[in-house]
Amino acid sequence: MEQALDHLIIWEKALEFARSKSNSLSYNTTFKHLRPLGIEGNVFILECKDSFQRGFAEGEREILEKSLADASFVRFKIRFVLPESEPVKPQPLEKDGPSQKNNLNADFTFESFVVGAGNKFAYNVCLSVVTPPKNTKSKNMFNPLFLYGGSGLGKTHLLQAIGNEILNRYPNKKVVYTQCETFLNEFISSLSSKSFEPFRKKFRSCDYLLIDDIQFLENKEGTQEEFFHTFNTLFEKGSQIVLTCDKPPAQLNSMEERLITRFQSGVLVDVQAPDYETRVAILRNMAQSNHVIFPDEVIDYIANNISSNVRELEGAFKKVMAYTLLQGEVNLTLTSMVLQDMISPQNARKITPDLILNVIASFYNITQDDLLSPRRDNHIAYPRMIAMYFFRTTLDMTLGKISEFFGKKDHTTARSACNKIDIIVKEKKAPFCDEIEELRKRIAL
Ligand code: ADP
Ligand code: MG
Repeated sequence: MEQALDHLIIWEKALEFARSKSNSLSYNTTFKHLRPLGIEGNVFILECKDSFQRGFAEGEREILEKSLADASFVRFKIRFVLPESEPVKPQPLEKDGPSQKNNLNADFTFESFVVGAGNKFAYNVCLSVVTPPKNTKSKNMFNPLFLYGGSGLGKTHLLQAIGNEILNRYPNKKVVYTQCETFLNEFISSLSSKSFEPFRKKFRSCDYLLIDDIQFLENKEGTQEEFFHTFNTLFEKGSQIVLTCDKPPAQLNSMEERLITRFQSGVLVDVQAPDYETRVAILRNMAQSNHVIFPDEVIDYIANNISSNVRELEGAFKKVMAYTLLQGEVNLTLTSMVLQDMISPQNARKITPDLILNVIASFYNITQDDLLSPRRDNHIAYPRMIAMYFFRTTLDMTLGKISEFFGKKDHTTARSACNKIDIIVKEKKAPFCDEIEELRKRIAL
C-alpha cells in the first residue's frame, strides 16, 4: 500500500523543487496541472491534460527530472502521457529474455541523427557495427565499441540507433538494450530472489548487448564481477557489445582493472559537442519534424546561446515551440524572453560598441562604416545619433569618449545626439520611439 503512494509523495516534493527552480509562469501554466500516475522501473509517469500541455511539459523536462531526482534521489526519466493513452501496469521482470520490440525508443535512429564535425566519427563507427565494412578481417574489430562523452551529446541516441537498425534489418537477432542502472537492479533482484537463470539467460544469450551509462558500475563490485562474466561469455561467442559512458575507461573510478582493460581492447570513440553549424542543422531538423517554421534569426539565436549540448538545445527548442503555439508566431523577442531562464549570464551576449553598431546598421540597412563616417545625410546621421545614445545609456561611455569614437573633435556632437534621442524616448514621440525601443530589445538580446 505504501509503495502505491510513493509516486504521490515524491511528486509533491518534486513540485516544490520545480517551483523554486523556475519562474511562476511555468509553475502556474504547467507544473501544477500535471498528474502523477505511477512509476515503472525508473520511469516516472505524468499525465498532461492535452497535447498542448504536453508540449509545454516537454520543454520543462529537464527541470522536472532534476526536481524528481532532488525529491527522491532516483534519476527518473519522465514519460508524459495523455489521458487514457497508456494505462499504467506494473512492470514484471522480463522472464523470457528480451522482447524484440525491446525498450528502444523508435525515434532514435541513424536517419534522425544529425551528423557534424564532433560526432561524425562516432556515427560512422556505429554504422559499421551494423554493417561491418567488407574488407574487415577480424569479426571482432569493433568489439567492444565504447562510446564516451559528456551528457546530452547523443550517446544514447546512437546506441539505440544501432539497436533499431539491427532489428530492422535482422528481425531475428536478439538485441538487448538496457540502462546500466537497470542491469544493476535486475542483478540485485535476481540475487534476492536467488533465481539467476532468467537474468543470465537474458544477458548472456543475445547477439547484441547495448549497455547505456556504464559509469553506473563504479563502486559496485558485485555487479562488476557479474558484468565481467557476461562480457566474456558474449565476447567469446562473437556477440557484439556496445557501451556508453560519460568518461573514457581510464577515468572510471573504483572499476576493476580487468574490466577497464576489456573496454580498452576494442574501439574507443569520443562523442564531442556539436559545433555551431551542427547546432543549426539540429534545430532546423527539429523544426521540420515538428512542422513549425522558425525564422533564421531565431534558430541563430538559439544555436548561439545554447551551445553545451544537444539535450539542452532540444529543451530550448521545445520551450520556444510551446510558446509559439500559444502566441501563434515566433520571433526573436519572444524567443529571448522564453529562454531567459536557460541562458546563464556568462553565456549571454556581451554588449559592445561593435554589437550596437552592427544592430543599428542592419536595422537601417546601412553599413558600420557609414555610421563611423563623417557623412551627414539624414539616413545615416540619424542612426548615428541613436548609436551614440546607446553608447551612452548601455555602455556608460562618457560623452568625450563617444565623440572620440565617432571621430568628432569635441563632445558637443555626442551631447546633442544623446539629448535629442532622450527626448524622443521620454516624450514617447511616435513613430521614432517604437523604433528605438525595438533597437533596445535587439541590442539587449
Ligand atoms: P547522451 O546519452 O549523450 O546524454 P542523448 O543521446 O540522450 O545524449 O541525446 C540527448 C537528446 O539530444 C536526445 O533527444 C537525442 O535524440 C538528441 N540528439 C543528440 N545528438 C543529436 C544529433 N546529432 N542529432 C539529432 N538529435 C540529437
Ligand atoms: Mg544517455
